Amino acid sequence: MDDAIKKDLLKTIPKVDEILNLFHTDAPYSLKLKAVREAIAQTRQNILSGIITENVTNDGVLKLSAYILSLLEKPSLKRVVNATGVVVHTNLGRSLLPEYLLQDLAEIANLYSNLEYNLELGKRGSRYTHVEDILCELTGAEAGLVVNNNAAAVLIILDTMANGKEVIVSRGELVEIGGSFRVPDVMKKSNAILKEIGTTNRTHLHDYENAVTPETALFMKVHQSNFHIMGFTKMVAVKELKEISFKTNIPIFEDLGSGSFVDFSKYGMKYEPTVQDTIKQGADIVSFSGDKLLGGPQAGIIVGNKEHINKIKKNPLNRALRIDKLTLVALERILLLYRDMDRAVKTIPTLKMLTYSQQELRHKADFLNNKISGLNLELFQNEVCETISKVGGGALPHQALKTFAIKLMPEKGISANNMEEYLRDYKIPVIVRIEEDSIIMDVRTIQDTDIDVILNALTAFNKEQSV
Ligand SMILES: *Cc1c(COP(=O)(O)O)cnc(C)c1O
Repeated sequence: MDDAIKKDLLKTIPKVDEILNLFHTDAPYSLKLKAVREAIAQTRQNILSGIITENVTNDGVLKLSAYILSLLEKPSLKRVVNATGVVVHTNLGRSLLPEYLLQDLAEIANLYSNLEYNLELGKRGSRYTHVEDILCELTGAEAGLVVNNNAAAVLIILDTMANGKEVIVSRGELVEIGGSFRVPDVMKKSNAILKEIGTTNRTHLHDYENAVTPETALFMKVHQSNFHIMGFTKMVAVKELKEISFKTNIPIFEDLGSGSFVDFSKYGMKYEPTVQDTIKQGADIVSFSGDKLLGGPQAGIIVGNKEHINKIKKNPLNRALRIDKLTLVALERILLLYRDMDRAVKTIPTLKMLTYSQQELRHKADFLNNKISGLNLELFQNEVCETISKVGGGALPHQALKTFAIKLMPEKGISANNMEEYLRDYKIPVIVRIEEDSIIMDVRTIQDTDIDVILNALTAFNKEQSV
């Protein structure tokens, strides 16, 4: 199309005010204005790029404005279906809270509570008392507190115990967790001086001993979380380090990362040090996440020696990193479940998903596969296949979890990429994996209420792509 025609078409675009007068909606004026301006800008662009070849009508711009407004009014954070099989999926919300707990959350959110009020004395109390006793009971520690997340826990521990002083860390434990959390960087932020010892694969007890100076404030151990070194390796356990700690009076802090109360080796997985074991071995301070293997809300949990914990509680940073009441109520209820480990494993979604038996997974997969077959959709074939789930969250990286999945094999010129994109764009997005031009939906992370969403999404896909 030549420029003269485009110029004429551009003249047919209505004025903003014209559309505003015709546009009847309850939306705030500023939002309405934004939608109309955006609709006009898009129309203009579509004329210039040759997509619009006819005169623009008020009705056309009005419809586009209404559509843009509907997008602007939609909240951003929403539910998705996690069919990836990655259980602790940081990008998809990490851990799910058990459904029965939602009533407690709603009550604390919607009504007043004793968040910082001591009901016995009738005066100000502390928000930390709600979880401190149960944390001590479960871990065997003397004291505890919780902050916003584990990154915050590490920061406040280093800031309290080692500001301006040296912290001794093995080179094999200077890890990067992702999302810009790197041990050396957190160390800098807290003004602690990193003293690296040993080598990437081997660090000995005498490396720790030789590094101690009058400026040493802390021995720090970091759980390797998301990687695993094999072969000629040696790391010093807390138990061994305790000897030097005792002699030098320098405390040991271990950042456990995903920290768990459950011994996963009882459920056919590899042994991971539990929080209780780490305390028993002699760590003075231990920190871990609330929403990784623990399966609770986002939180950083700190337990250990009373004297150190008290200092951390008094650090002014604590106010900046403090935990919200909704997190606190969820965390307390989750922690209470751990009094009975078997009940915890059956009730906490993260643990339940990690410990499904092969029969349960096979049954889930057959059920979903039969439902999909029952839809009689012609754009893809479906079958049950075996695959591997991941724990995720940088936890248990070398733990392969055998699982069953639904494999969808698109046909009639449709690629797995088309299908994946459609499902991701569905009103309740369905997040899947692609393998060799097939869609893989791992049933391990699919919730009961997701089944209908998946069936509706596939039906809509088949209908829309058939035309
Ligand atoms: C995940 C992790 C962190 C960060 O924990 P968040 O709760 O995500 O802030 C810190 N240290 C280690 C070793 C971790 O694995």
